[in-house]
Amino acid sequence: MHHFKNPSFELIRHDVVEPLLLEVDQIYHLACPASPVHYKHNPVKTIKTNVVGTLNMLGLAKRVGARFLLTSTSEVYGDPLQHPQVETYWGNVNPIGVRSCYDEGKRTAETLAMDYHRGAGVEVRIARIFNTYGPRMCIDDGRVVSNFVAQALRKEPMTVYGDGKQTRSFQFVSDLVEGLMRLMEGEHVGPFNLGNPGEFTMLELAQVVQETIDPNARIEFRPNTEDDPHKRKPDITKAKDLLGWEPKIPLRQGLPMMVSDFRQRIFGDHKEEDTATNTSSS
Ligand code: UDP
Ligand code: UDP
Repeated sequence: MHHFKNPSFELIRHDVVEPLLLEVDQIYHLACPASPVHYKHNPVKTIKTNVVGTLNMLGLAKRVGARFLLTSTSEVYGDPLQHPQVETYWGNVNPIGVRSCYDEGKRTAETLAMDYHRGAGVEVRIARIFNTYGPRMCIDDGRVVSNFVAQALRKEPMTVYGDGKQTRSFQFVSDLVEGLMRLMEGEHVGPFNLGNPGEFTMLELAQVVQETIDPNARIEFRPNTEDDPHKRKPDITKAKDLLGWEPKIPLRQGLPMMVSDFRQRIFGDHKEEDTATNTSSS
């Protein structure tokens, strides 16, 4: 939004599953829903976006000689049997499960990128992004950090799936952006894990949200979703060594920045309404 006034900025609404003709120097290929709720909603469209969409963007990169950055995912490791995950680990992925449209889709996207690199000389860069959160995230995105924050602000119980002992490692959005730009501008193909190694169980995350928003925020247990990975934590040695990158913002510092943005969007711009407790559940 804040770029609309810049005369050099152009926004094009386009479905990458359809071919696209553009003249560009660099392609950050992020297209694809990334929240499990959203990518499972229309799984065939999800895998088409990852496979046909990535093929089209690689075809475009080849035609115009652009550098191509693929945002892959920690989901390529599936429910990992190695902990923490290093880039050389091949993963433990169910090819026929409800998450497969996303994790197998991204694995195929990585394959396509490497084949265009080897076969057609396209300059590719591959990032494997771990769980990321921050301001301006969709309030109803469905992922755990945004869910807990929105629920605690609205005085609704935080929904913990399963026993809450599964782990994730949460990266603040500005750290990710810095990592992606370093990767694009650097000389290394990757893949690179981009994530924050700080690992939390979902119950610990709920506790951090309580500390940040409301010590009385309640927890409600819900059945877990199918094929939910038990553990996830990036080994970021490779990104540290080759990109000189590591995240700077720990969860306890990043969460308050997200909370003040969510507070404004949920309750409106008036700071004094922040204390209003009955604006819940719309
Ligand atoms: N493509 C595109 N924009 C371009 C160049 C290609 O969308 O500027 C699409 C093209 O429609 C094709 C895909 O990218 O479906 C792969 O292109 P490539 O040239 O690698 O393969 P080919 O067209 O020879 O099968
Ligand atoms: N989760 C949860 N409550 C929610 C949403 C998610 O406990 O309201 C759990 C989910 O079961 C998973 C973890 O949080 O173990 C991360 O889920 P998310 O959808 O954020 O991303 P994922 O890492 O699974 O892609």
